[in-house]
Amino acid sequence: MDIKEKIENLTAELLKHQYLYYVKTAPEIPDKEYDRLFDELAELEKKYPEYASDNSPTKRVGSDLDNTFPEKEHSIPVLSLEKEYTIAGLEKWLAKTIANSDKTLSFVVEEKIDGASIVLYYKAGKLDTALTRGNGLVGNDVTENARTIKQIPLVTGETADFAIRGEIFFNKSEFVTFNAAFENKFANPRNLAAGSLRNLKSSIAAKVPLKIFTYEGYFTPPFTNDHIMILAKLKENGFTINKNVGFFSDDSGMRSRVNEKLPEIFSGAISELPGYVKRRMEQRDNLDYEIDGLVIKINELDVRDALGYTAHHPRWALAFKFEAPTAQTRVKEIQVQVGRNGRVTPVALLEPVKIAGSTVSRATLHNQEYIEMLELGIGDSVGISKRGDIIPAVEEVLEKDPENPTIFKFPRECPFCKSILEKDGGHHFCKNRACPERLARAIIYFASKDQMDIDTLGEKTIVFMFEKGFIKTIPDLYSFNYDELLKEEGFKEKKVNNIKTSVENSKKKPFRKVLTALGFDGLGASAAADLIKNGFNSIDKIIAAAARGNVEEFSRIGGFGEITANLLIKHFTDPQRLAVIEELKKVGLNFAEEMPAMREAGDMPFNGQVWVITGSFDNFQPRSKAAEEIERRGGKVTGAVSSGTTHLLVGSAPGSKLQKAQQLNIAIIDEPHFLEMLKETCI
Ligand SMILES: [Zn+2]
Repeated sequence: MDIKEKIENLTAELLKHQYLYYVKTAPEIPDKEYDRLFDELAELEKKYPEYASDNSPTKRVGSDLDNTFPEKEHSIPVLSLEKEYTIAGLEKWLAKTIANSDKTLSFVVEEKIDGASIVLYYKAGKLDTALTRGNGLVGNDVTENARTIKQIPLVTGETADFAIRGEIFFNKSEFVTFNAAFENKFANPRNLAAGSLRNLKSSIAAKVPLKIFTYEGYFTPPFTNDHIMILAKLKENGFTINKNVGFFSDDSGMRSRVNEKLPEIFSGAISELPGYVKRRMEQRDNLDYEIDGLVIKINELDVRDALGYTAHHPRWALAFKFEAPTAQTRVKEIQVQVGRNGRVTPVALLEPVKIAGSTVSRATLHNQEYIEMLELGIGDSVGISKRGDIIPAVEEVLEKDPENPTIFKFPRECPFCKSILEKDGGHHFCKNRACPERLARAIIYFASKDQMDIDTLGEKTIVFMFEKGFIKTIPDLYSFNYDELLKEEGFKEKKVNNIKTSVENSKKKPFRKVLTALGFDGLGASAAADLIKNGFNSIDKIIAAAARGNVEEFSRIGGFGEITANLLIKHFTDPQRLAVIEELKKVGLNFAEEMPAMREAGDMPFNGQVWVITGSFDNFQPRSKAAEEIERRGGKVTGAVSSGTTHLLVGSAPGSKLQKAQQLNIAIIDEPHFLEMLKETCI
């Protein structure tokens, strides 16, 4: 066999197994064997690139280049669908559509996958471009990342150009594991699918097992008048189509022709359609992917052409959504906020709408990725929800602004200081520490109710004083001569006196309050309490430890970990921050407090307990740290389980001690439970 033939055979072999694995989900060879064949092919292709096929599985591994995802225009219509939320509404649409047509209609019902919409353009049968839906007219070119999705054929049996619509999604069952690998930055599988498609380097995207269902094909010239036959053709060409599709026609001959080609799908008379929709709705939670509804489409393509489109929707399809959004409104403006630590948060300003009795006019948009996932622009109609009592969030775009369908672009610069924003993890940051917005936010935070509680200095007053140049930093709050305010409009003597009093009173706040009011990253109320509890009961002790730069000194504190420890070292060795602290000291704020009193031995929470430890722990490495915690609470730690043992602390991969403890009916404590116990018995 010559090299060329060998490469061809290997390619064909791998493609077959890829198809079996990803499309049929019925692999015939073990993963290891597949990897071996893959490596062999990659090696040969490297030596003889002239023989490598465009369709080679090695072309799906992606590149390390930063993708820029340039915008490109769509050449097929990608409009959103009219939405209906009730079976009655669906039945009405069905009746109206049938009555308005002089032809006999049939319908196709497909699941509306909650993922990232994509259009695949094929040239002469080969994948040429993959675009996101974007605003319907222009999408982002994500070809490099789409190529890494094994269910997307790179080469098909077709010879002509055609376009395919599909939905990229991520399996629910794999979400938790994969999200952990991305530091849990994705809120749900849909976020992960959209994020990997749009934001990752293709070499990383290639490691994410994204899936696709294709559901529309645009072939010219058309080879059929039936949408359902397009699905059959997609399947023949190696595309993955959803098996949860329903075909509804009153022509039984047509139904059996369809089931010959697509035996896996449901078919029935049109009268059965609403019942099918109800059943699919009930089956929703049994799926391994998220759907938010069903799509009902007219099957006949000539009827579709004749019906055409309204300004925003095709007239031949309907989205049946399982849940109506909590509230519907319009985005008037998108504001970019910068926090005291530089983090940039986009906020949607809404036309006021009532949700559960309260009027909502702002909603969080989290970050740039979230906006891109929603494909949200100013002027769009959106669905808003308010889950629990948290800040309302924009959940979905219901309707792009017909006048100006755009997607909001994050500014390149901080709107307040014009420095270039930097991306760090999922968020953008203004890294300019002299940024006026960051400084003002730090002062507002310091004076806020949960911090120093200087209630006479609300956000408005602080912003006013900041803009006037009266205060620039936190210590200025204590050195400013508030009598100056009497010259300003709206500041009467009584008001100014009240401000003076509350500023003076804030000096009595305990050290732990002062510590958190500084607003340092990673130093919230519980971290401050932990520091104090663990002997860092004065700022001098903290600064001295930070100066020693020994991460251990902080990371040994339960729940801190290295990240927090390093942050503390960074903050408390920073000259600018130390200067602020020094000034606040001079003013007379509390920078030390008494250690919580030690208890008598008899009062110790673990007094009389005998513990044995087995397995390994996330929060206690080495294991002796867990022993220290027990001993500090008056407990004893021994090496072997005996009848005298009262508690067994069990980590992952425990030894035989666990069985023995179970036999002896000893209390078995896992790590989360242990952490709870430590919290309840703070020492
Ligand atoms: Zn800035």
